[in-house]
Amino acid sequence: METCRRCGAALSMDETGLNRKLIHRGVETFLCIRCLAAEFRTTVGALVAQADRFRAAGCSMFPPKRSPGLADIADA
Ligand SMILES: [Zn+2]
Repeated sequence: METCRRCGAALSMDETGLNRKLIHRGVETFLCIRCLAAEFRTTVGALVAQADRFRAAGCSMFPPKRSPGLADIADA
């Protein structure tokens, strides 16, 4: 399991996928979605929506959702 290099949070596949999409495909250290939002001056909700768009496009870095996950964070 990858962890955030800034805060140490455990990362989901969506989070590592977003790092690869937003930073670089070959990144080896990752940020969690909250730290990514801070880094890119955006919101967690916007990043979740972006991950969902990649998923809808069939991107293999964003596996289909089996259970509620990041969307719940965005709604909180
Ligand atoms: Zn973090």
